[in-house]
Amino acid sequence: MKLQRNVLERIYEHALREYPDECCGIVTGTSRKQLIHLFENIQNRMHAEDPARFPRDARTAYFIDRGVFDKVIASADSQGEDVIALYHSHTEHEAYFSEDDVAAQTVFGEPEFPDAVHVVVSVMSNRIHDLKCFKWDRELKRFIVLDNCC
Ligand SMILES: [Zn+2]
Repeated sequence: MKLQRNVLERIYEHALREYPDECCGIVTGTSRKQLIHLFENIQNRMHAEDPARFPRDARTAYFIDRGVFDKVIASADSQGEDVIALYHSHTEHEAYFSEDDVAAQTVFGEPEFPDAVHVVVSVMSNRIHDLKCFKWDRELKRFIVLDNCC
């Protein structure tokens, strides 16, 4: 499924607004309607509270409050919506799917949302630089880059 133009614009806006920190959010919906949910990146708070466990700050990492996340997922579920995409930004880094990104999305080697598209937006010098989409490949058992997701 392709991301709708207006959803993409909102992702770009969010990424630019949070720059130089990373932004994060998800897109839920159906084949006809897509809804974007912007999450707060609480990485700076986690880093301040427990720098040993969270050595990075929000410029190179993101963290979503699990309670907030679960509420949005439950609400989408109850309205018959799927998780279409999860997105986050990289600032002053390319739009690749890092080892940390893989770790955040997989539990025991399997992704939490195997059908969702993972969008990474690269922001460089306060400008949108690139966007790439990744998807879990069930046969290869790894994330692959999608040529054409928006
Ligand atoms: Zn990342």
